[in-house]
Amino acid sequence: MDRDIFTSDHEAYRDTVREFVAREVAPHHARWEEERWIDRDVYVAAAKAGIYALQIPEEYGGAGERDYRYRVVAAEEVARAHATSFGVTISLQDDLVLHYLLDLTNDEQKERFLPGFARGEVIGALAMTEPGAGSDLRGLRTTATRDGDDFVLNGAKTFISSGIMADVVIVAAKTDPDAGSRVLSLLLVERDMPGFERGRKLDKIGLPAQDTAELFFEDVRVPASNVLGEVGMGLPYLMSHLPRERLGVSLQAMTAMQAVFAETVEYCRAREAFGAPLTALQHIRFELAELATEIDIAQTYVDRSVLAFNAGTLSDVDAAKGKWWVSELQRKVMDTCLQLHGGYGYMREYPVARAYLDTRVQTIYGGTTAVMKEIIGRDLAR
Ligand SMILES: Cc1cc2nc3c(=O)[nH]c(=O)nc-3n(C[C@H](O)[C@H](O)[C@H](O)COP(=O)(O)OP(=O)(O)OC[C@H]3O[C@@H](n4cnc5c(N)ncnc54)[C@H](O)[C@@H]3O)c2cc1C
Repeated sequence: MDRDIFTSDHEAYRDTVREFVAREVAPHHARWEEERWIDRDVYVAAAKAGIYALQIPEEYGGAGERDYRYRVVAAEEVARAHATSFGVTISLQDDLVLHYLLDLTNDEQKERFLPGFARGEVIGALAMTEPGAGSDLRGLRTTATRDGDDFVLNGAKTFISSGIMADVVIVAAKTDPDAGSRVLSLLLVERDMPGFERGRKLDKIGLPAQDTAELFFEDVRVPASNVLGEVGMGLPYLMSHLPRERLGVSLQAMTAMQAVFAETVEYCRAREAFGAPLTALQHIRFELAELATEIDIAQTYVDRSVLAFNAGTLSDVDAAKGKWWVSELQRKVMDTCLQLHGGYGYMREYPVARAYLDTRVQTIYGGTTAVMKEIIGRDLAR
């Protein structure tokens, strides 16, 4: 189905991204996956080329471009190269970390943090999840206790994307355990603060180049000037920023499905069985037809969500609908595409095999499918 969300400016940008990915990402991604680490230099090059951090205002070194369609173009081009670990890291910076920093930092913090992000020299992470609490944020146990001009931070986080690489981590901690909905605050914890330690790089089944870490905080003195926004507003800040995170997951899902499906159609056209291409078999054509239809329908919803986000009208319920449905579809699409590759689909050298493994987390992070249904259901029951 024709998509009509882009202008000629977006298409010109697409050429830049495509060229960048072909030069700086595609030739290295297999090595990054093997080494389980993405070269930091690529973020400097990517920021310079405008592949991410576009929304940082010009006065801090960015382009001041908040049109989400540029994010869509970048994600599509990275997905075309099947560079999923890199794509997820870019999404983490743009859809989570910078989204919070741009909205919640004061002028002094903007001066301090944004130029480094705009140059691609500073990488951020967002640490909510703990060993004992993921879906249920009220179960967090990390505390930040006021002491003079500082907050003293104690606790542990887990599953933190880019936790090893990050120079700045937005940490959700309890600043007043008895304050009801004002129990949490967000603190900016910096790389070299004494008492801040990183655990092991976690051994995941997918996204091998993207580091995921445990973080430990023992009496870390975080200056009050590193509080993000207002003390006690952590929970509402997390809630109000989740729609973009979830749109980011839907976008990752959409772009990965499009790329792997296109590759699978080519494979089925080229692969012969019983004296003819696989596509000569009606069963194969029906499988492809079903996926093509579902992908088109999902794309329509995601495109509408992108326009709604640009207009400031994407609700948390609509973002949750997209997140669970599109990421569940992604699981189905990857599974069927793998099946259509036969034994080759099980070999990691084929993009579909790696995509299958990278996909599995999509229905878990950013809020599980069950949690998305809970958000939607609660809204219906209200
Ligand atoms: C690769 C990876 C990267 C991640 N990156 C980050 C990151 O950068 N920052 C961060 O803070 N976190 C991150 N996470 C954590 C992720 O967001 C959590 O794993 C997720 O929210 C689920 O929390 P949990 O693992 O504690 O599972 P639990 O909350 O223990 O859930 C276990 C099961 O119970 C179900 N369940 C829970 N509550 C309900 C309910 N109310 N109704 C019905 N079913 C329910 C869930 O759907 C799930 O199936 C990452 C996770 C992974 C795997």
